[in-house]
Amino acid sequence: MSVWNLANPNLRQLVPYEPGKPIDDVARELGLDPASIIKLASNENPLGPSPKAVAAMQAALQGLHIYPDGGCFHLRNAIADKMNVDRSMVILGNGSNEIIELAYHAFGRPGCTSAVASRYAFVVYKLMAQLFDVEFIEAPDREFHHDLAAINAAIRPDTRLVFVTNPNNPTGTRIPNDELKAFIDGLPPHVMCVLDEAYYEFLENPPPTIEWVKQGARIIVLRTFSKIQGLAGLRVGYGIASPETAEILQRCRQPFNSNSMAQTAALAGLQDTDHMARTRTMTLEGRARLQAFFTKLGLKFVPSEANFVFVEVGDADRVFKALLREGIIIRSMTSYGLPAWVRVSIGTPEQMKRFEAAFPKVLVA
Ligand SMILES: *Cc1c(COP(=O)(O)O)cnc(C)c1O
Repeated sequence: MSVWNLANPNLRQLVPYEPGKPIDDVARELGLDPASIIKLASNENPLGPSPKAVAAMQAALQGLHIYPDGGCFHLRNAIADKMNVDRSMVILGNGSNEIIELAYHAFGRPGCTSAVASRYAFVVYKLMAQLFDVEFIEAPDREFHHDLAAINAAIRPDTRLVFVTNPNNPTGTRIPNDELKAFIDGLPPHVMCVLDEAYYEFLENPPPTIEWVKQGARIIVLRTFSKIQGLAGLRVGYGIASPETAEILQRCRQPFNSNSMAQTAALAGLQDTDHMARTRTMTLEGRARLQAFFTKLGLKFVPSEANFVFVEVGDADRVFKALLREGIIIRSMTSYGLPAWVRVSIGTPEQMKRFEAAFPKVLVA
């Protein structure tokens, strides 16, 4: 008897998450110098972590024999201060991805509940639904935008989780603030809405979602240190929710889910407003330039509100592979069922120049 017969049967269907290809893998497979490779595949911060976060981590290295503070006292206080909420409303995760998992632990009872998200939303919601044996309902989208009416219509009596990604990854689209507010106000009381705001800091006129939490909206707002903070490798993200919801999520986590380096770095990074401002300015300038470049090439792209651009190239896998040979890693959207589209993260001006030089060659090849 195969060991698969002992395992959770859902695992047979589960297609593992396909991350951006690591620089090291590309170097090894193609015999390239890792230093010559640029990664525009995972929406990371090309400026690196905040220097203040790096210094704080260096100082904290000697304390690594001690377990972390499972309650994340200092970091939760700092986040609470910054957001002007009570500390009891803040939960830390091993990346905000872990908080998605905690939401399933908390609200997705196996075999008898469902979760709803938009088509072409962040794929992790679907993968975790499969793991938890929660039926996953994909609401139709509108030209790569969330269709909030369709999401609402897809909610069933057994639905417990509704995921909204704003701005959305991989498409880069946003929801107008007033429409989002009306949608949240109109949700039935039997669902918890997870509002994934991984790219919140790149928004112009962002929605006041933390205020909505304070006013009692049934939402879990997710934010992350992986994008604008440049700490993706550390795995640290957080959720803001009502004290009651946060307490429910806290009961689902491991005792030390946020490690001490992550807490130290995030605490220092949170204070480094210069680094965040520099990242934001560079990203918005790079995005405008990249979109102008795609326009010039006559390519169809979705105007982005985040730190990446989603663009139609014909054969995504071919363009992806051809760019790899140039030492540039982007992301093919084939795994999202969109084999004509790729996603390109905004890099430094130098990285974008290299991309602009290589891309037209591989496009016509
Ligand atoms: C990158 C991203 C995240 C962040 O995940 P972490 O686990 O915090 O690194 C969450 N949601 C979306 C939609 C993302 O694109």
